[in-house]
Amino acid sequence: MSEAPAIHPEPASPAASASAVALRVPLADELFYSLQGEGATLGRPSVFVRLMGCTVGCAWCDTKYSWEGPPVLELSAADILEFCAGRPGNQVIVTGGEPLENPVCAPLVAHLKAAGLRVEVETSGYIEPSSPLLEAVDQWNVSPKLASAAIAPDKQPTSLGWLWRAKEPYLKFVLHKPDEMAEVDALLDHYGLAEFPSERIIISPGGKKFEHMEPRLLPLAEAALERGFRFTPRLHVILWGDKRAV
Ligand code: SF4
Repeated sequence: MSEAPAIHPEPASPAASASAVALRVPLADELFYSLQGEGATLGRPSVFVRLMGCTVGCAWCDTKYSWEGPPVLELSAADILEFCAGRPGNQVIVTGGEPLENPVCAPLVAHLKAAGLRVEVETSGYIEPSSPLLEAVDQWNVSPKLASAAIAPDKQPTSLGWLWRAKEPYLKFVLHKPDEMAEVDALLDHYGLAEFPSERIIISPGGKKFEHMEPRLLPLAEAALERGFRFTPRLHVILWGDKRAV
């Protein structure tokens, strides 16, 4: 097997290049290249773009620094494309924060796609993406919150019907104990997703540090297996604990 090829973004038109230089992207972490830590593409080398800003307010959020405040840095879309071009693989993960709260999300994804990159977006799902964004994104990692997150009712999705129109939709639920699986069932019913393919439903254990997550692994894996759901640990927590930008 040969090594993963470096990214060679497709040449942009002068107008697209100018637009990429003009688009300012506020970031909660520096750009980083790492392994996808969760979900369907667990372990895949990826560039992470962590957009600044989130008003969802999950009690157990592991990126509270992304909620508000001045960004760690602001880059242009052109800078982000250049960073991607220097890394192997062709995958970019747009995360947050809540990326769909950020108006730069859609134009940024458009630039990434125009450069030939595969794009995953990670969202809580409370904001329905616009049709062009829904069409552009290769994979949606949507994580509705259980009661443990203690979020306000208006931060829960009103509908997740758009998942049926997405190219590669996955639902990810963060659980802390197996009896929360009843809440997952209730949410699937509530959103009309009882027939959503079980292989697209992913159970993930909460815990910022490995010692918090470790005792949850086996009980949650077995509970997921009983329902035919996927289970993925959080690889970045296993490898790097609660370090940022990994
Ligand atoms: S939606 Fe994500 S970033 Fe926002 S509070 Fe919840 S876990 Fe944190």
